[in-house]
Amino acid sequence: ARARAVIRDWDLTRAYINGEWREADSREKLDVIDPAKGDVIGGVPFMRTSEARRAIDAASEAFPAWSTRLAKDRAAILRRWRDLLETHQEELASLITLEQGKPYDQAMREVVGAIAYAEWYSEEAKRAYGQTMPATQRDRRVVVQKHAVGVVAAITPWNFPLTMVVRKCAPALAAGCTVVVKPAEDTPLSALAAAKLAHQAGFPPGVFNVVTGLPQPIGEALTGDERVRMLSFTGSTEVGKRLMAQCAPTMKKLSLELGGNAPFIVMDDADIDVAVAGAMISKFRNSGQTCVCANRIFVQDGVYDAFVEKFIAASNTQTIGNGFIPGMELGPLINRQAVAKVERLVQNAQKAGATLHYGAELPADGHFTRPLVMTDVPLDADCFDEELFAPVAPIYRFETEDEAITLANRVRTGLSSYVYSRDVGRIQRIADRLEAGVVGINDGTTSHEGAPFGGVKESGQGREGGHWGLEEYLEPKYLNYAIG
Ligand code: ADP
Repeated sequence: ARARAVIRDWDLTRAYINGEWREADSREKLDVIDPAKGDVIGGVPFMRTSEARRAIDAASEAFPAWSTRLAKDRAAILRRWRDLLETHQEELASLITLEQGKPYDQAMREVVGAIAYAEWYSEEAKRAYGQTMPATQRDRRVVVQKHAVGVVAAITPWNFPLTMVVRKCAPALAAGCTVVVKPAEDTPLSALAAAKLAHQAGFPPGVFNVVTGLPQPIGEALTGDERVRMLSFTGSTEVGKRLMAQCAPTMKKLSLELGGNAPFIVMDDADIDVAVAGAMISKFRNSGQTCVCANRIFVQDGVYDAFVEKFIAASNTQTIGNGFIPGMELGPLINRQAVAKVERLVQNAQKAGATLHYGAELPADGHFTRPLVMTDVPLDADCFDEELFAPVAPIYRFETEDEAITLANRVRTGLSSYVYSRDVGRIQRIADRLEAGVVGINDGTTSHEGAPFGGVKESGQGREGGHWGLEEYLEPKYLNYAIG
């Protein structure tokens, strides 16, 4: 009820362009669905190319003044945004649970994450340091300044509908960029709520814009426009590649956080209880719908049986249902297509010879899928290469350290990875060789707003978090002085 009240009281029915709340030109709306019940909970403007262009007009007009404002002024506005996110954390968490489905306590953790990013970049805004260096001639001086890249298009996914918006916009705005956000069509309300608070925080008109609607026409308008100088995208590798190609003709800077396919390696000498607890969090958080979720659990022969027994027991205790019911650990999947996809991957694994161990029974309505552990999964099952994005845990057996690393790296992506062992040398050897941007060591959660998050190979390029995240939105400019 609180979440519905937020939608009504905050009037989350219009998009945000140039500091104003706007309908689509066509007046059409796009429904927003509660994934736990399947009902319509709201509607946002069904915008297309012309509205996206208007947002780019606003962002490019706002850019000269915003990028030359004192960094400490930008920092102060960001700090107010951070404080407003905190003041409204319960309303924001309710909204996330309602439109995205994750259990309320996980939604609260998401809001805390968003606050942390806003806070970090309100501080980092003042630290866009340049450099000087010794010249190679006596009468020369060399100065390197940092400048905001320009108008940024930010396309965000539905799995962290608030944090992904803040994690992109806070550093972009800190750097002096202006932004046009296109949130995922499944979860536009959290982005509009973030815009409400940004408006209150005092970002000038045009600095922060949110355009809602179907992805393709808006995506084409954003990527095709030469005034947009950078695309920051989080989503699937498939869409990321397509957007990268669309950005090529205008040579935009890119920050791409794409799919992962995280290996979770448990060595013979690991603390099995710690490994089981880490695998539970890594696999089942957000019902398995994160790009860092363990997608392939590799367990060494000597502890395979012990690990499997404890992991199945732990996964069988999980509760599943509407995220507003206290104590629920697993919410629904985002939509019907997500359920259909995991069903296909599970059937494929079963045909290939995997054994299935189902957990809790399903609630009656909504887009749920049962938690499932799959053991002795053959390496040629489709789920080895595809992200499940669901509470389904495939376990593979291996024998040697070398084999684990080879298997872990045998995919085209490289975002997160996990290794469990109590031998520091072994951990370092494995971490050195894993093709991944992040390695969780005896830890199933790796998020930190000050650390560089991002992937290698087809998991994308660029990093979010820390000073690395700010650098993405800055270009160095080299000034060469002849001082006469
Ligand atoms: P997921 O598999 O997580 O749903 P997607 O890559 O489909 O990932 O979605 C991530 C974001 O990309 C969403 O905001 C979605 O609307 C957007 N998106 C999907 N297809 C396109 C497209 N053709 N052009 C622009 N944006 C797109």
